Amino acid sequence: MEPTCKISAFRAVLVALILLAGHRLHAATMDSAEAWGPILTVAGPADDVTLAEAELALRDTFTLQGVQGVAARRADGGFDWDDQGPRDDPEWAWFFNRHSYFPFMWQAYARTQDERFPEFIFATLDDWIVRHPAPGRFSFSAAWRPLEAARRIIDSWSLVYLKLGDHPQFTAERRARFLASVHAHGEQLRHHHALAGNHRITEMLALAQLSLVFKTDRDAGEWLSYSLAQLDQSYADQVYPDGTHKELSAHYQRVVALIYQRLLTLLDAAGRHDLADTWRPRVRTLWAYLAVAMKPDHGNPLNNDSDQENVARLLRDNAPDLAEPTPPVSHWLPYAGQAVFRSRDALSGDALWAFFDAGPRGTDHDHADRLHLSLSVGTRDFLVDNGRYTYARGAWRDYFAGPTGHNVVLFDGQGADQGPKAVGAPDSLGRFFRHEDLEIAYGDTSFSTAENARAGDWRRLVIHVRSQGWIVVDRIAAFQPAMLSTLWHWDPVCDAIPADLITGQIIRHGAGSLRLQVATSSSGGDWQVVRGAKHPVQGWSSDRFNFKTPASCTLYTQRVARPVTNVWLISPNDERPLENALDVVFAPDGQMVIRARYAKTDVELRLDPENPEGTLSVSSR
Ligand SMILES: [Zn+2]
Repeated sequence: MEPTCKISAFRAVLVALILLAGHRLHAATMDSAEAWGPILTVAGPADDVTLAEAELALRDTFTLQGVQGVAARRADGGFDWDDQGPRDDPEWAWFFNRHSYFPFMWQAYARTQDERFPEFIFATLDDWIVRHPAPGRFSFSAAWRPLEAARRIIDSWSLVYLKLGDHPQFTAERRARFLASVHAHGEQLRHHHALAGNHRITEMLALAQLSLVFKTDRDAGEWLSYSLAQLDQSYADQVYPDGTHKELSAHYQRVVALIYQRLLTLLDAAGRHDLADTWRPRVRTLWAYLAVAMKPDHGNPLNNDSDQENVARLLRDNAPDLAEPTPPVSHWLPYAGQAVFRSRDALSGDALWAFFDAGPRGTDHDHADRLHLSLSVGTRDFLVDNGRYTYARGAWRDYFAGPTGHNVVLFDGQGADQGPKAVGAPDSLGRFFRHEDLEIAYGDTSFSTAENARAGDWRRLVIHVRSQGWIVVDRIAAFQPAMLSTLWHWDPVCDAIPADLITGQIIRHGAGSLRLQVATSSSGGDWQVVRGAKHPVQGWSSDRFNFKTPASCTLYTQRVARPVTNVWLISPNDERPLENALDVVFAPDGQMVIRARYAKTDVELRLDPENPEGTLSVSSR
């Protein structure tokens, strides 16, 4: 074909670029969109809510991570791509550069055929592409952080290409610019991706998707091999043999499981069933962890940086057999060091559930939650981990990620040593064993002060008396005088009533209740309930990023000068008088006799917390 003088020099350069890059100038993209349907982030035309969201986007109003704001524009009319949004938060700029609004704008178009929606998409793409040549190096910029490049390809650009590829406004020039930028995304993701964590997995999934959807790109074959090898290596590096992702956050476990699930869908859509079959059992292992950890209300524990999510729905959508009800069996995850206790309440039949973290911190997104305990009775949460709320540094982040936001012991106001980020062997930090109707998990840590690197040791044992309740034993060997505070954070709905400030309290959650009592080898302590305090921050909970609500926290504070043991009785659906329900004899040799009176039965157990496996004996009446 002879180039004609009618084609502008600009266009000629672009056409040459396309031919050089090996792209076909036009493909039957609407046909292939059918096959690729399962990988698209949205299915059909907009519903009313999505349509309203798309209309707002036409007026530059967006909701990103739950925060609504008007996107800033430059003097020349384009978006200010580095603007940090209404809260001056870099997260806003990163999310805005993901173009996550294109899919619902396409949905609005599919419903209304209103050309303003594709016009917005194409004009926004024109502006973004021309202003953002690839940096050719690793970048944390709003536009080119590799995670944002990945999310653009996965969530947004693939859909634009497959669904609007035949739109008259997607002209040859636009197509050329778009495909050149897609190629630049491939180069960035191939050579400048994260080297670890869930970011690396997302970025390699994006590169695999790019290679398969834009398969005429000259580098697609190499990119596909590279990304699959990286995903394989990432799985080996980041998933423990017990199925937990090493960040040890239910939220990021979900993120990673969804990414690998998406890889299965992608490989199947591309006809690579051979590859998909090798991945299927490994993806199932990731979902199995969420099935094990799932609360009776179908949510998840908020370990490390997590939000409350509907795990049952995720399982139904992705691993349906794991969503089936199972007998109430407890689990110990030996690498994660997490115990999930399950039984059924002897009187009410409510599901009893608790989650005890005696394991490593997690390789990222970690909280100072070592030896934290969460606990639910039926669909009612009682003891909770307070979530993440924000990633912005300051008092709020310090609270939600720090020890004061968790159910732990503080030593002169300070949290305990958090241990290693990861472990290389099972049972490295925590232990679990069964004895008749008891299940016991325990772990150790220590406290340090400015003057003393080892100011105290702390062992916590969580004893599940099946179908009755729990006993928590905290043995704190203080090597110097100290003020100990034990924190119990309640779900925001809970009403923590200080019924008896000597022995304990009743916590109500709707029609349900929980009894909390302590027996101590020290001379006693002070009870206090704090809710919604700001100076210092205490008594807050967040079940979703960017949202927080006041929630009661019980603080039990005691002054100690020598080793002390606190025994906590946790008894569900039990509002009898608090007297005489817990009786503990602390013998000088370390042996203890614990008599716990639950609503259904009395339990007497003997043990030395130093050597629980070797000393435990139990009798019930
Ligand atoms: Zn936490």
